[in-house]
Amino acid sequence: MDTSERLDSLLAPEHRNLLIGGAWREAEDARRFDVLDPADGSVLTTVADGSAAEGIEALDAAVAVQAEWAATAPRERGEILRRAWQLLQDRADDVAWLMSLEMGKPVAEARGEVAYGSEFFRWYAEEAVRIHGRWMQAPAGGSRLLTIRKPVGPCFFVTPWNFPLAMGTRKIGPAVAAGCTMVLKPAAQTPLTMLLLATILAEAGLPDGVLNIVPTTGASELSQALQGDDRLRKVSFTGSTGVGRVLVRQSADQLQRVSMELGGNAPFLVFADADLEAAVDGAMIAKMRNMGEACTSANRFLVHVDVAEEFGRRLAERMGALTVGRGQDDGVDVGPLIDDKAVESVGQLVTDAVHDGATVLVGGTTPDGPGYFYPPTVLVDVPAGSAINTEEIFGPVAPITTFTTDAEAIAAANDTEYGLASYVFTRDLDRTLRVAEALEFGMVGVNTGLVSNPAAPFGGMKASGFGREGGFEGIEEYLETTYVALPAP
Ligand code: NAD
Repeated sequence: MDTSERLDSLLAPEHRNLLIGGAWREAEDARRFDVLDPADGSVLTTVADGSAAEGIEALDAAVAVQAEWAATAPRERGEILRRAWQLLQDRADDVAWLMSLEMGKPVAEARGEVAYGSEFFRWYAEEAVRIHGRWMQAPAGGSRLLTIRKPVGPCFFVTPWNFPLAMGTRKIGPAVAAGCTMVLKPAAQTPLTMLLLATILAEAGLPDGVLNIVPTTGASELSQALQGDDRLRKVSFTGSTGVGRVLVRQSADQLQRVSMELGGNAPFLVFADADLEAAVDGAMIAKMRNMGEACTSANRFLVHVDVAEEFGRRLAERMGALTVGRGQDDGVDVGPLIDDKAVESVGQLVTDAVHDGATVLVGGTTPDGPGYFYPPTVLVDVPAGSAINTEEIFGPVAPITTFTTDAEAIAAANDTEYGLASYVFTRDLDRTLRVAEALEFGMVGVNTGLVSNPAAPFGGMKASGFGREGGFEGIEEYLETTYVALPAP
């Protein structure tokens, strides 16, 4: 099967459209946009380009079934999620291939995302039946207090291109479990995985209208229309801090609940007592997972001066040995970046760092030829103030800066507007605890380069946003509380 035959076999042309109230529809005036193959820039297919008015129709559909959906048995909602989890296991190879095709990441990594992303469905299948309020005697004894948990209501989800499946399942899983309906706008670069997921959820028994999908190139008009509507009760966004600020502002008029998973600038601290082999292994994951296009990507390597040279050398060896190529080809470790703008911005950060005094150990040159490739790159002697240390790189570049004391390391790590992921490599338990407490980040990986886990609360502070996805905390974002005051019996 060639690429277009396999694509057709996975996602029928009628599913490359808007999904509103269970019906797959073309956009008004048959407007469509192109989905590109980042490995060569060619057009893979087109997808319906929804309008703001169609977004409101999607909200109409969500609102129409909200009450009925909220009244379904928790077990029933959980079983839909559990069936969808199973279908994702059964079709993991196909889902991974499609994700790799539109987003660029190697199929093996996309397979990892299917495992990770689908797990939110299994986790929240198990949480759906544990939603509960409480009953208590008032402290003064005279009355009784009852709390009731209810779904927050129709939600609007906006997801980014870098994890086309998992950034959706992290929102859909808890929303389904809680009994919310939703309108989802996938990133215009990668709508196909989400459309395929919608077919899988329908097959798993999700009722029409619970999940509506509006792919669009008019994200701003869509979000303004939806957030201007007082029937929408919640917005959950994953993406850049700039867009997050816009959506928070737009939430003010209707006072919508908001969850914001925004950018990061993760420090990766390697202390002198660290197991250097483990630190390099961790660095390879924290830096190279998703080609560095992750909000949790290690962005600044802060390494104790005594071990910096060896760490840099070993990391450069490993980075230099990676195979760059089309994500669907065998043996490829590093796929293309998402688009030409991404390659340009990563290249510019490297050029500026070198201009500021950094030295390139490996990589550092944008290759000629088609596709949006950038090579794994290690930079040493990077001045702390260089833009590559203050901005989110979102590419396969590891800038290394040295420190001498723990206090200096902690101050440097916290010296960012962001507060999402951070990483610490040390064998000293006291230091681990001291540093973990002092870091102003929502997540701290200790001697590991991977913090994401569906059972854990993923999220940040400061300019990385607020709210948590995953864990027991994740479902709270989709529940309201009504407190009922009662007299003593
Ligand atoms: P982006 O903010 O440009 O786009 C994210 C999504 O928002 C896309 O679907 C886009 O179409 C949409 N969007 C853009 N303008 C909008 C508007 N006015 N109204 C509504 N939607 C709008 O970000 P990106 O470049 O696609 O993704 C990369 C960014 O996402 C990085 O900054 C990264 O750190 C962040 N990210 C964060 C997390 C997290 O969980 N914290 C996860 C993945 C990515």
